[in-house]
Amino acid sequence: MVAKELFNKITQAKHCTAFTGAGVSTLSGIRDFRGKDGLYNDFDAEKIFDIDYFKSDPSFYYKTSASFIYNLEQKEPSIVHNVLAGLEKRGFIKALITQNIDLLHSKAGSSRVIEIHGSPKIHYCLRCPDVSMPFEEAAEIVNSGNLPRCVKCYSVLKPAITFFGESLPLNALKDAVKEAEKSDLMLVLGTSLTVYPAASLPQYTLSNGGEVVIVNDMPTPLDKLAVLRFDDLQEVFEELGRHINES
Ligand code: ZN
Repeated sequence: MVAKELFNKITQAKHCTAFTGAGVSTLSGIRDFRGKDGLYNDFDAEKIFDIDYFKSDPSFYYKTSASFIYNLEQKEPSIVHNVLAGLEKRGFIKALITQNIDLLHSKAGSSRVIEIHGSPKIHYCLRCPDVSMPFEEAAEIVNSGNLPRCVKCYSVLKPAITFFGESLPLNALKDAVKEAEKSDLMLVLGTSLTVYPAASLPQYTLSNGGEVVIVNDMPTPLDKLAVLRFDDLQEVFEELGRHINES
């Protein structure tokens, strides 16, 4: 019963938020970018999310990412996505901050999702500020082997994912900091807290007197400050799922 204490903390917290990273998605069979089976081991993979490269040849991004971004229908949320959505529905989680760009929290049913590395939910024109296309429409075009284009200027649209060479979405970051400051409990899940400024989010919770729980299979710089620390996401969330069903 490793997670009973965690379940009690979650149900007793006034404002609990979750902060998720790649470790949550790998449970759904989505490849981490930097891990040992990571996408970056593939030839040229770093170019996929490079803004300058995208501007010179946007078709490379769409060809390469079709099989892991535009195949959402074939991807299933993991136990972690599902339990987090269940906790939100029961009012125990107020917001979910994620570094992931795979839309799986939304697919699992979480409604308050703050995507601090951007999102393919929207595709927009780099030239026409008022032109955008939702994920579903772009995915249909990409999966038929074509490129999503601007209805006005015919440029290839860019997903609102934050590429290398771009800054993080300011509004999402502000929202995330606000949530972190408000939280008396933050669950840090599947992230090694090494990429800034995302890695500093739990610090806002801690410095406002809140508690941080860390579940990750690798050490993080904040392990010593965590009130609870677990390694195995799958195990912890299977048990949390059972506690929810019994409650
Ligand atoms: Zn345009």
